[in-house]
Amino acid sequence: MERVLITGGAGFIGSHLCERFLAEGFEVFGMDNLITGSLQNIAHLFEEERFHFIKQDVTEYLYLKGDLHYILHFASPASPIDYQQLPIQTLKVGSLGTHKALGLAKEKKARFLLASTSETYGDPLVHPQPETYWGNVNPVGPRGVYDEAKRFAEALTMAYHNYHDMDTRIVRIFNTYGPRMRINDGRVVPTLLPQALRGEDLTVFGDGSQTRSFCYVSDLVEGIWRLLMRTDYSEPVNLGNPQEMSILEFAQAIVRITGSQSEIVFKGLPADDPKVRQPDISLARKLLDWEPKVSFEEGIRETLDYFREVPEVKQTPSGS
Ligand code: UDP
Repeated sequence: MERVLITGGAGFIGSHLCERFLAEGFEVFGMDNLITGSLQNIAHLFEEERFHFIKQDVTEYLYLKGDLHYILHFASPASPIDYQQLPIQTLKVGSLGTHKALGLAKEKKARFLLASTSETYGDPLVHPQPETYWGNVNPVGPRGVYDEAKRFAEALTMAYHNYHDMDTRIVRIFNTYGPRMRINDGRVVPTLLPQALRGEDLTVFGDGSQTRSFCYVSDLVEGIWRLLMRTDYSEPVNLGNPQEMSILEFAQAIVRITGSQSEIVFKGLPADDPKVRQPDISLARKLLDWEPKVSFEEGIRETLDYFREVPEVKQTPSGS
């Protein structure tokens, strides 16, 4: 049986990956220190004997007995609020954590996939963003700890690929949403959806003209699966949904879909908030024969179903 280690396995995307690899017949090791991940995300996997949870910080020495065929490195705080509250941990997991995970992959001769991010493009001056764009990042701004850690992680992964001849992949993940996002982690989806369900004001930062492109998690997982299993492509690949909208349009769509009585209110725009973001997925289309399948409305409805059952939402009368 093939064995896979998923760091950040109790996180939003990590937990969906654990599920996918179990469904494909793998023995799955999910590792997480639970600073932003949650056991609730993987509680349903504990009855599966091919699933093992390891509570560990990936920046510490990694040891795993026996064979290991794949490592997917998904451990990292990933919301702007989280990585501003955990700046040192964010830098450490992208640098030292990636180093430890690559070291283990080298030892085990495992194929390695790095979860990188559209944040490597910073506040982009090229739009949409192709993989060939080098980005516009402020290293000392509030997002610097995340952006630079992931840029370093990409460099380290390429160095192991080139110097140690390792089998590696780099995926640049654009805004992804779905069930198991942590409520109120500061990101727009797990903030505005619960606000709409509770009938509270929807907080739009700035004038809401900044754009994002939202990909449903099952589409992302399929893209990752294809990149890892069906190619030997070691350069970065964008995965995301190219359907772009302004944050104000996003908020209006949430009000419409939920039928909520919520008002939209405007708050200050955080520093260095990218003005536009849209993935150029030409490469993924060609290389992986992949593109997102889940419509925005369908994905949002699935995610609303999840948030309706989250205790913080369930306890408010209008959320039930
Ligand atoms: N945003 C917002 N209201 C919120 C949270 C976020 O208007 O309550 C905005 C944020 O300023 C950004 C966009 O929504 O322009 C996406 O933010 P998120 O934190 O989800 O991800 P980012 O793409 O900025 O990393």
